[in-house]
Amino acid sequence: MRAAARAARAAGQCVGLVPTMGALHEGHLSLIRAMAERTDQVVVSVFVNPTQFGPAEDLARYPRDLDTDRRLAQAAGAGVLFVPALEEMYPLQPGVWVHSGELGQQLEGAARPGHFRGVLTVVTKLLHVVDPHWVAFGQKDAQQAVLVRRLIRDLLMPVRMWVGPTVRAPDGLALSSRNAYLAAHERRDAPELYRALVHGRGLMQAGLRGADEIAAQVRARIEARAPMRVDYVQVVRADDLAPVDPVAGKVLLLAAAAMGQVRLIDNVCLDVHEDRVTEVTL
Ligand code: AMP
Repeated sequence: MRAAARAARAAGQCVGLVPTMGALHEGHLSLIRAMAERTDQVVVSVFVNPTQFGPAEDLARYPRDLDTDRRLAQAAGAGVLFVPALEEMYPLQPGVWVHSGELGQQLEGAARPGHFRGVLTVVTKLLHVVDPHWVAFGQKDAQQAVLVRRLIRDLLMPVRMWVGPTVRAPDGLALSSRNAYLAAHERRDAPELYRALVHGRGLMQAGLRGADEIAAQVRARIEARAPMRVDYVQVVRADDLAPVDPVAGKVLLLAAAAMGQVRLIDNVCLDVHEDRVTEVTL
């Protein structure tokens, strides 16, 4: 991988990296296409990173289908599929980590201790191996995107970051490899999470600015419409996930809920002015 990336750079090519855990869907493919438009050589990594999974999580049954991934990635414009072995990425029991600090301890980090430490550590490794000019992440995992942006800035990494908008099924459900775990009746109700976020956006567009009240109404709507256990609904500042009340500026309305065995997350990013609220990308 290093030799291929070095050769591309030596030939004057701009290299883009799309890190994934495989089981590629349109969300991943949109990132690959965005990188193919902006760079000369797109590398897609497929690595199911064990250190970002908790002990009770789905590491062992995470969906894997490398042949399909290879075909889809290539059709979307990837030139290299990088599939490192576990022993290559973790030659030793990890002794040194990239810690996320407080930014990674709230929201998803509160529900999944150690998750972002695993994410930031593996993203650092991938960036060291590929050394791309661009790296792409999806807004679907908004907290991850915010943290990786800070990783790049705080550790002076010479790479530019692209954040692609969330790709959704026609009924609004954000695409995710884990949607495959949903039973048919769960899949039918799952879009209620996004519908509730859209409702929250509507509340802000109607003039509501109290962060707690918006969050409470979104939460109540999810609970009323779908058999989900809501973990959190929060409005935070998009840059640093800090509390913002009354809501103003660029904010994220984020929600997480469990549907059966599946944890669903989603968000909308909004630019909130006194007299208007518009949806923006992170
Ligand atoms: P994963 O394979 O789940 O680790 O995701 C790899 C990348 O794809 C991450 O940057 C995700 O944020 C992004 N991604 C996952 N689902 C979507 C989606 N529905 N829309 C846009 N990007 C996504």
